[in-house]
Amino acid sequence: MKSNKRKRGEIEAKRRKAEEWRRMQAQRAAEQRRLHEYRIALARGEVAVVTSALAPSNSYSTPDFVLRGTYRPEPFICKDCGVAEVWTPLQQKWWYETAKGDVFMKAVRCRACRTKERARKSAARRVHLEGLARKKPPVS
Ligand SMILES: [Zn+2]
Repeated sequence: MKSNKRKRGEIEAKRRKAEEWRRMQAQRAAEQRRLHEYRIALARGEVAVVTSALAPSNSYSTPDFVLRGTYRPEPFICKDCGVAEVWTPLQQKWWYETAKGDVFMKAVRCRACRTKERARKSAARRVHLEGLARKKPPVS
């Protein structure tokens, strides 16, 4: 005959096993839901994220596109001229995976303003370097 203590132990073990099973089922369901959403997103024209190609980040948080696994069109308003533009999935993929851009940076300028900003920056750099060159003592 089993002791009460042993019976209680068996009941407790069964309860734990059932709990573990439920947790596993919930986990599997969540994974399947994610996979399902991922496939729908790809079918909608979103582009798969290759996490291994991303620049490493020191942040503890994870960007939305990494959690989701896809780049989706991101509408934004240009901070310089106020025009509405869409940052396309392929542009994002290029920025994050090829150019190794910061994973927490997003597009803020339209194409035209980006070109202008790039020209302004390179002009500023040239002026700065020319200034430095003037300060250097002449080489004799
Ligand atoms: Zn603009």
